[in-house]
Amino acid sequence: QKEDVVVTLLPAGHCPGSVMYVLSILSMFHPLAFNEEFDPSVAVCRFLFEGENGTVLYTGDFRLAKGEVARMELLHSGTRVKDIQSVYLDTTFCDPKFYHIPSREECLNGILELVRSWTSLSRNHVVWLNCKAAYGYEYLFINLSEELGIKVHMNKLDMFRNMPDILCHVTTDPHTQIHACRHPRDDDCFRGNRLPCGMTCFNGTPLHIISIKPSTMWFGERKK
Ligand SMILES: [Zn+2]
Repeated sequence: QKEDVVVTLLPAGHCPGSVMYVLSILSMFHPLAFNEEFDPSVAVCRFLFEGENGTVLYTGDFRLAKGEVARMELLHSGTRVKDIQSVYLDTTFCDPKFYHIPSREECLNGILELVRSWTSLSRNHVVWLNCKAAYGYEYLFINLSEELGIKVHMNKLDMFRNMPDILCHVTTDPHTQIHACRHPRDDDCFRGNRLPCGMTCFNGTPLHIISIKPSTMWFGERKK
């Protein structure tokens, strides 16, 4: 049996470009999909689909802020939420040991206040963001830069060349108080009071460095 399937891509908020899939299986070809209300972000595909009917949400890895789903127009039909028959929830954190993970906003506010209080002590007080993955910290970098007016130092920016929204918040100039630069032995650098980019002092005075390691896994490893 042949069926038409509407595939809708929703922002997943995980790393730049990540999406969630909504599959709507139409029991017959639906001409409305091509009228003037046709949304170009909804790709209509043809699938050989056997058996089930209905709408399926496959999340993939995702990171969404509270209320973000409620604001997704593509999950709504008029004033109501679309009926979804099956959800495939892809998450590392469906485990009792992750009994509480603070929201993205709570984490941002905690980091923001720590960075604000440290960097305001003197120009020599700097923060190293110990970011292990290549992507996924854009929200943090942008908000720190916007709130504190301090750009984030990175080894290179080519990874963001297609993301103009973040380029004005990061810099390759190490003379800044927030660093997310990397070195193969960056933990050793930190223990030696040196930033991964090699900076140890500013205007001849040694730096005072604290490190912040953004991590969700930590919430599953803590003892209480
Ligand atoms: Zn640096």
